[in-house]
Amino acid sequence: MLSLTGATVRFGDRAVLDAVDLEVAEHEIVCVLGPSGSGKSTLLRAVAGLQPLDAGRVLLGGADQAGVPVHRRGVGLMFQDHQLFPQRDVAGNVAFGLRMHGVPKGEQGARVAELLDLVGLPGAGRRAVSALSGGEQQRVALARALAPRPRLLMLDEPLGQLDRGLRERLVVELRALFARLGTTVLAVTHDQGEAFALADRVVVMNDGRIAQTGTPVDVWRRPASEFVARFLGFDN
Ligand code: ATP
Ligand code: MG
Repeated sequence: MLSLTGATVRFGDRAVLDAVDLEVAEHEIVCVLGPSGSGKSTLLRAVAGLQPLDAGRVLLGGADQAGVPVHRRGVGLMFQDHQLFPQRDVAGNVAFGLRMHGVPKGEQGARVAELLDLVGLPGAGRRAVSALSGGEQQRVALARALAPRPRLLMLDEPLGQLDRGLRERLVVELRALFARLGTTVLAVTHDQGEAFALADRVVVMNDGRIAQTGTPVDVWRRPASEFVARFLGFDN
């Protein structure tokens, strides 16, 4: 459903994405791992249309996305700092963007209620976001990203701010949720445990390139290079 071929982004003379080829199948959950600065966020931004490519192509559902604006790509985005709107309540945050995606006003309330049920916050629509815990805010941000029913959901460190216990619980919930919705997911995380628990397949990036891709078990058992082995923590 997503296909990148030769995707390249340069800043100055440095290729931050260096001719990346990547396929993501329908319903697949792919987690992108890699050191800070390896190009993970740039990859997501390029797929979303927030970062123009200097070379290569992004295809979604077989269609070349060159020149297609962000809100026409059918992708949902959730960033590390989820940046909810503090002046809007929970429902206002989740409904944000629905109009832009062509959901009529009359249908928005029902859509929001359904999403809040889905992320485990039933009836929370009227609550102030400032009065929510970190984990609850992450769920609101997730509901907002899911609201337009994206064909591809992209998450950049979705659980970044949370403590380990909560992360582990939410990862299990997320995996079940995505399976239920049949959502295709491309997620960036620093946390190997999170990637291995969530992903059907992991992509390890190094310096703008894909160092290895495979099932979590494959990558763990057979790191393709010294870089991957070291990154996974096999130091000797
Ligand atoms: P992190 O794990 O820290 O979030 P990342 O893998 O997401 O890292 P990117 O944000 O994709 O890394 O950045 C890749 C490289 O591109 C970094 O070296 C960054 O400094 C550089 N970069 C990103 N955006 C720009 C920009 N607008 N101008 C110049 N350099 C940039
Ligand atoms: Mg990043």
